[in-house]
Amino acid sequence: MKKHNFSAGPSILPASVFEKASQAVLELGNTGLSILEISHRSKEFVAIMEEARALALELSGLTGKGYQALFLHGGASLHFYASALNLLERKGAYIDTGTWSHKALTEAQFVGATSVVASSRENGYRNIPTDFALPLDADYLHITTNNTIYGTEYSHYPEVEIPLVADMSSDIFSKEMPMDKFALIYAGAQKNIGAAGVTLVIVREDILGKVSHKIPTHLNYQVHIKNESMTNTPPTFAVYTCLLTMQWIKEQGGIKVIEERNKEKARILYEEVDRNPLFKGYAESKDRSRMNVVFNLVDETLTDQFNALWTEAGISGIKGHRSVGGYRASIYNAMPIESVQLLVEVMKHFEKTV
Ligand SMILES: *Cc1c(COP(=O)(O)O)cnc(C)c1O
Repeated sequence: MKKHNFSAGPSILPASVFEKASQAVLELGNTGLSILEISHRSKEFVAIMEEARALALELSGLTGKGYQALFLHGGASLHFYASALNLLERKGAYIDTGTWSHKALTEAQFVGATSVVASSRENGYRNIPTDFALPLDADYLHITTNNTIYGTEYSHYPEVEIPLVADMSSDIFSKEMPMDKFALIYAGAQKNIGAAGVTLVIVREDILGKVSHKIPTHLNYQVHIKNESMTNTPPTFAVYTCLLTMQWIKEQGGIKVIEERNKEKARILYEEVDRNPLFKGYAESKDRSRMNVVFNLVDETLTDQFNALWTEAGISGIKGHRSVGGYRASIYNAMPIESVQLLVEVMKHFEKTV
């Protein structure tokens, strides 16, 4: 039986994407070849890559605005380093909103000087800090737009004169965002765009080529732009799943429609977390994530009992990250509202049984 998958990533994708991707494993269109064996230089795959790159810009509202979309290897984690390597000359400024932003900072430190301009570490990363002052020599400001582990998310973005860099791994394409405020965006695909193994990088070309150090070929965004995201063999299957998911977003009516659904899913789940006396939410209400709903049991001795109930209901993947404990329900774009309603019912039922 298909489970209700609330996993933080790799995570649920639209059912139609699973079907179309399976079909393409058997045969891609009428090529007589599987997506797994077709050459990345074939006209069929080149068309897939081109369409995926164009659609990523289109969904971001960035077509014709000086940006390029790339599908690269390495996960968001490699782009912690690569983003710094491409941009850091004097200093990288970072806002620390959790594990992932801290990791981004740590990797940038392999490149050069960094500065943490704000952090919510002191209160367990329960909010998004708003006050910060940039050092005069900062080359860019890096933020993590959605903090997958702690369940916090930016709703307003910092206003800065220098390039704004964002790790959008877990909320890209989940809502309308002022994407043109960002100079560099990267996102591991496995949260909201496609199969694991590929990272979407969107970059405004004018910010590149400004550093004085040499950049190794495969970490150099300008090289990838020149080679149209095919400097070496791209993760062909993963790119294909991204294309299918982005097409699905368009078919649903676009990001605005997806955003409305995401709002409703988050609303009903937080409403239950707040109402049900057995649970408490983790993040401060004003900064709560619509993608990752993090909550705990008030009485942890009830853990086994609650776990038995949701497991029985066919729910999977809601155990919290090991650093926070409790529960985390990831309700990405492809998560149907029915699955969220089911989780809410299980929580209500739990209240009646204890
Ligand atoms: C999952 C995640 C990452 C790590 O992504 P990888 O592709 O596994 O490197 C980085 N940042 C955020 C915000 C994430 O949610």
